[in-house]
Amino acid sequence: MNCCVKCFTSSEIKSMIKSLDNLGDCDYCGCRNVYVYNLQHDNKGLDEQFNNLLNIFHLGEELRIDGFSEYKLISIKDEFEKNWKIFNNFNGGKIHRFLNTLLEQRYPEKIEFLNNQVGIIEWMNKDYLEENSVLKGHSWEEFVTYIKHNNRFHSKHVNYKVLNDYIDTITITVDEDDFYRARISNNAELGLEDMGAPPPSLATAGRANSEGISHLYLASEKETVISEIRPSIGDTVYIGKFPIRQKLKVVDFRLLKSLDVFSSDDPTRYAINLEIFHEMTKAISKPVRSGDSKLEYLPTQFFVDYIKGLNETESAGYNGIIFESTLSTNGYNLMIFDPDLLSCTRVERRIIKTLNYTHIEYAID
Ligand SMILES: [Zn+2]
Repeated sequence: MNCCVKCFTSSEIKSMIKSLDNLGDCDYCGCRNVYVYNLQHDNKGLDEQFNNLLNIFHLGEELRIDGFSEYKLISIKDEFEKNWKIFNNFNGGKIHRFLNTLLEQRYPEKIEFLNNQVGIIEWMNKDYLEENSVLKGHSWEEFVTYIKHNNRFHSKHVNYKVLNDYIDTITITVDEDDFYRARISNNAELGLEDMGAPPPSLATAGRANSEGISHLYLASEKETVISEIRPSIGDTVYIGKFPIRQKLKVVDFRLLKSLDVFSSDDPTRYAINLEIFHEMTKAISKPVRSGDSKLEYLPTQFFVDYIKGLNETESAGYNGIIFESTLSTNGYNLMIFDPDLLSCTRVERRIIKTLNYTHIEYAID
């Protein structure tokens, strides 16, 4: 049985398969003439990698004896399908079949891990969580409640050492590129000088800035900036172009969603932080709505302020952050801390002609 580079999202696994330089047809995703790995004959360590990964799990029946809550048990195929960024659109059944075929020859003792519920023993180890979880073992929801209703600026729920490690992992450089910012103005004509960030006195709270703190919000595509300001039909929209001609150091929150466990030197730590990162990325890309309580923005403002603060405490040199746009299918958002860092070099005026709404059925309780 062959799997191929396209079966995976894990870049470690993809590059390992590619390095073997074997072209063929894939039995799992159906791709033809692609770089493949034969599960039975290519003894190049794919089975060893998955075996090492499965080593972090214990069988549920053993864990229960030690008082592990059965509500924390999981099945590997479901967990890998829903949360772990390893396979490219494999459902649980396919993951199960793949791992079974891969491991049955050299690691037959792992097959019962695939067929039974398992857990990670560190999930119930308070000291381990305190030291290795970015929220010291608290859930995202507990952190949010604490920051909203207990202590806003000095959360005791955060392990800053772990946070710093992950911030390093998702730090990237943005090179020369063009970004855009849009404003709706149906009466006054807007020029270059009107397209920058608002002055601090007019800065309203957003997911990545507190009220009174002005940051420059840009997006990579014109369609994205228009979607982000949500105009109505007939509105006049001004789009300003902000070219980047220097290297910018930014924290890319999109990467939290695709952290590769096979690149991590500590898969257990990866596993205990996965859900928090999932919630964090969701929170930062959630659109700002006019009826929102300002308290909703506090959790993400907290992390963005922390990154900005690293510039003062550690001379970290961060210029901003990147996050996904949930209002546009292509393009992403770039938020720059210092609004004077970039200038608008061109403005174009557009009239909104049509809007596209998509909808799904949502059951009434
Ligand atoms: Zn494939």
